[in-house]
Formats: sequence, C-alpha cells, structure tokens
Amino acid sequence: MPRDKTDLYTYAEPDVELAPYQFIWEHHFPNFSKEEIFSPELLAKKLFHTVDIESLAKLQRFRDYVFNATRVGLVVNHGNSKLRGVRSLAEQAEVAKKYGGAETLSMHCQGKAFDVSMWSNHNSDQLAKMAITFGFTGVGVYPTFVHLDTRFSFDGVPVVWYR
Ligand SMILES: [Zn+2]
Repeated sequence: MPRDKTDLYTYAEPDVELAPYQFIWEHHFPNFSKEEIFSPELLAKKLFHTVDIESLAKLQRFRDYVFNATRVGLVVNHGNSKLRGVRSLAEQAEVAKKYGGAETLSMHCQGKAFDVSMWSNHNSDQLAKMAITFGFTGVGVYPTFVHLDTRFSFDGVPVVWYR
C-alpha cells in the first residue's frame, strides 16, 4: 500500500487521537484485527499502547512467512478465549486462576505474546518449528494453538515448552 499522507487527514476526522494509530495499523498490520490482538478490557479502554509494536511487527512478518510456506493464514484469539493476545493484569490473574501460570509476569501483559493457530489444518508442531526458525524466543506448544513471544534471550536461544 502506498503511503498517502492525505489518508492521515481522512482518518483524523472521526477520532483525532486514534488517527495516526489507525493509519499505522491498517498499513502495517493488515492481517490482524484489534479484536484479535487486544483483550476485551484493553479494547474497551482503548489501551492500544499496551502492545509492543516490534512484537506485533514480528507477528505480522511471521504471518506472511507462514502464509508463503503453507498458503494458510494465522489467527490470534480463535475459539472461545478472547485473552490470546495482550491482556490486562486483572485478566491475567483470571487466566492464571483458570489454567495456572504466571499471575502478573506474563509476556501477554507486556504486549509481547500472542497465542496463534493456523486458519485451517492447524498443526502445532509444524507451526512451532517455523516459529523457532523465525526467531521467536518463547514458543509454547499446545494441542490447539502455539504461544509465541519475544522475551529477552541473551544468546537468542528460545525457551520452548510443550503442554
Ligand atoms: Zn500465551
């Protein structure tokens, strides 16, 4: 998509504060909706700064990479859970209560983690392998989805776990 500066002014009409953000979103992250990336609480409060933009960019590039290899797209936030992207601390506590895991120090609360699956013919092992090759530093392999994050890794070696 060409970057047309006049677009920015068009977007500025309905919501001035969100305009530059909306512009960036639609031009750089065309395959992910805000409903996929943000939890209900963050969405309701419009706390869009909570996503780590580098991690989101990596996710978009990974989506393109997977699509090129398999012709299947990636989805975040599929199924019943709406907490597969960035979460608030309160929502993380909810998740921890239900499924166990970190109460606050989750990469999901730092805006650096996304639970993703393939749109069709999902294969966690195949997806995890591609994610490790692509350079995600946290990869959790679950039966129906793969957790991806961009945690700091001193030597770039990823943390990989299986559930
Ligand atoms: Zn996760």
